[in-house]
Amino acid sequence: MKYKYTGDRTTVYARPLARLIEQLQRLPGVGPKTAQRLALHILKRPEAEIEALAQALVEAKKQVGLCQVCFHLSAEPVCEICRSSNRDNGTFCVVADSRDVIALEKTREFKGKYHVLGGVISPIDGIGPEQLTIQALVRRVSKDQPKEVILAISPSVEGETTTLYIGQLLKPFTKVTRIAFGLPVGGDLEYADEVTLARALEGRRELD
Ligand SMILES: [Zn+2]
Repeated sequence: MKYKYTGDRTTVYARPLARLIEQLQRLPGVGPKTAQRLALHILKRPEAEIEALAQALVEAKKQVGLCQVCFHLSAEPVCEICRSSNRDNGTFCVVADSRDVIALEKTREFKGKYHVLGGVISPIDGIGPEQLTIQALVRRVSKDQPKEVILAISPSVEGETTTLYIGQLLKPFTKVTRIAFGLPVGGDLEYADEVTLARALEGRRELD
């Protein structure tokens, strides 16, 4: 027998389709089956719709950067939350990621300002305090002197390290609290429902 199936995708899919599947599979939570389903779906849609999708991808990537004050995702140099006069300047909420800002905003419970760290301290992954926006946070707190800084970081091992580290740094400047997690250890803020998150915020306590 001359032909032997090698498992090479290009023998199964037309080459451009294989490329599309390969790119889709790089997205988080997308395995080979989902990637194939999405790719075949995309091929069935009208060209204008797919062009709009492609354009949205490129434009979002080009236009959305980080707020220079709080490091939340923003299309402007300073984000809408930082610019808003309706927000309380006396309370800062420190989170690991922009996803957490979005989760907390959905609860509508928090009226202060945010600070996004860009991750948590994780020596194994080579992430030390200097890789995060911790220095900028300390500068911001010493300058703006908020009455309270709420640490809303997931209670994983890395999250705990980060919470304690930042707590020590900020205590000389202000009252530091942490949200009360009714979540399983390692649970991400973004997976908590809005009620749980609102309660966690409400039940915050001062850091020892
Ligand atoms: Zn901002």
